Amino acid sequence: MSHPFPRIAHIGIAVNSLDAALTLYHDTLRLSLHGREEVSSERVKVAFLPVGDTEIELLEATSPDSPIARFIQKHGEGIHHLAFEVDDLDAALDAVRQRGFRLIDDQPRPGAGGTRVAFLHPKSTNGVLIELCERQPATTQESHDV
Ligand code: ZN
Repeated sequence: MSHPFPRIAHIGIAVNSLDAALTLYHDTLRLSLHGREEVSSERVKVAFLPVGDTEIELLEATSPDSPIARFIQKHGEGIHHLAFEVDDLDAALDAVRQRGFRLIDDQPRPGAGGTRVAFLHPKSTNGVLIELCERQPATTQESHDV
């Protein structure tokens, strides 16, 4: 059996402003900007900056009731979640459910870049919000608009 998590897909960072954060990550730290998009179901705008085999995901709320807006109100800007890539999200969700982990999402939901994602509840994951992220099949992959 292959490793259940081939890699860390991305590290999500909650920011007040994508443009301001990109001054640091893109202009100063010189990370390349892989793409920006709005995920309306999550009420966020995101930007992806690859680092080796993983990516930094910057998240800006587009509405005051966005989970990112609520996170920043409570904690300020900072690391928001860790996303593990999975080959089969449905199987991965079944496995963590069977082991008694609390889930935020019982069913996969659409994530950025055509992925399917689901979050585990930080109460059962040592206080870390963990996202399981299934990459979309390459055949239907759209390019990010930069
Ligand atoms: Zn994410």
